[in-house]
Amino acid sequence: MKIGIIGGGIIGLSSAYYLQKSGHEVTVIDQSDLTNGCSYGNAGMIVPSHFIPLAAPGMIAKGIRWMFDSSSPFYVKPRWSGDLVRWGIQFYRHATEAHVQKSAGVLKELSLLSKSLYQTWSKELLDFGYNEKGLLMLYQTSDAEHEEKETARLANQYGIEARVLSADEVQQLETHVRVNVRGGILFPGDAHLTPHLLMESLKNNLNEKANFKTNTAVKDFNISEKKIKSVVTNRGEFSFDEIILATGSWSGDVAKKLKLNLPMQAGKGYSFTLPDISKNIQIPSILIEGKVAVTPMGNSLRFGGTMEINGLDHSINMKRVKGIVDTVSRFYPELKIETPAMEKTWHGLRPCSPDGLPYIGRTPSIQNLTIATGHSMLGISLGPATGKLVSEIINGEKTSIDLSALTPHRYQR
Ligand SMILES: Cc1cc2nc3c(=O)[nH]c(=O)nc-3n(C[C@H](O)[C@H](O)[C@H](O)COP(=O)(O)OP(=O)(O)OC[C@H]3O[C@@H](n4cnc5c(N)ncnc54)[C@H](O)[C@@H]3O)c2cc1C
Repeated sequence: MKIGIIGGGIIGLSSAYYLQKSGHEVTVIDQSDLTNGCSYGNAGMIVPSHFIPLAAPGMIAKGIRWMFDSSSPFYVKPRWSGDLVRWGIQFYRHATEAHVQKSAGVLKELSLLSKSLYQTWSKELLDFGYNEKGLLMLYQTSDAEHEEKETARLANQYGIEARVLSADEVQQLETHVRVNVRGGILFPGDAHLTPHLLMESLKNNLNEKANFKTNTAVKDFNISEKKIKSVVTNRGEFSFDEIILATGSWSGDVAKKLKLNLPMQAGKGYSFTLPDISKNIQIPSILIEGKVAVTPMGNSLRFGGTMEINGLDHSINMKRVKGIVDTVSRFYPELKIETPAMEKTWHGLRPCSPDGLPYIGRTPSIQNLTIATGHSMLGISLGPATGKLVSEIINGEKTSIDLSALTPHRYQR
């Protein structure tokens, strides 16, 4: 079949990879030049440890507290937007124990499938810095310790190995840098990679096998008899047998053109990278109280963090970048880092669904459309699994995972 994939981030390219492998003629359409979007500068963590969705008990109280602190890790910019209000109501409704119970299984399955696919990719594709060194969740306060130990207990219950470590045990793992913590949880099953290398090696692999239409923005669709007949772009109209919608944070707006309700907010995050570190961090870590991700990538060290819900906005708030720097200094007192210049600060828009679960699947109103988006903080983690599932849907095969909790029409009015 002729398949058009709208969006060439990790989700679009993973889908392209598996679809061309099963013999389809694939075209990836993207409004950007595919060099610096959300899938390029993130923290690169592959995290089966993250089986609890963003919408979980405690998040509302934490979110409200953080909203009044200009350097906090989470911020919702108040603005008049019906979409934001409806998204917020749905988030609130899903921040329950019952939702966590319902979602944990499917997130775990997606993560483990993805990790096994990354193991294959690390042999098939050009080197993208894939490493299985686990993940440390580091904390300094008793409140965070309590919460993280509870997550570790749940993880072990779900079959994801988690070990509680004392401050000394953490230090023994981090041989090069002094770590100022109360303790930590080690998730030995997690992994990490270098995101821009991953994206480059996927593009390299697809180069001769798929068509790329970059700097091409999808503006509208011609629909008749419940099918997309053509995709209207700023560079002409294109027709396909099947369309995959993988437009990340823009998906809510694109879906409106198809009369679909796909609640989505962009969760802006920042990262900056120190090159040529002689004594690098050994194990990727999350600094819990500041929600900062720290990832060694070869000789470089990347710090990522903050979640700003502020529409499709690309401005950089240096106060929040400084919040990341301050957190790093508290956890690694000997690591002398300075707030990067604005030009050296990368930002990306995470596509956040209100229940913290991706949208993967078909929708009844349009027969030749498959949606794959809304992966929030887990797009890199869940990319290969999502791509594989998309190809199974298109090929009419039984999907590797039950997708009922991820159905894209769960909010259809
Ligand atoms: C600071 C930070 C750290 C992160 N760390 C991690 C991590 O450690 N692990 C992890 O798993 N995830 C992480 N993430 C999240 C991850 O980066 C995202 O979930 C993932 O990149 C989303 O991929 P995507 O393909 O859905 O969206 P994108 O990468 O945004 O791709 C969507 C594409 O669609 C295109 N598009 C949109 N609208 C149109 C249109 N109308 N026409 C044509 N093209 C269009 C866009 O140009 C874009 O290229 C992090 C994110 C941030 C910001």
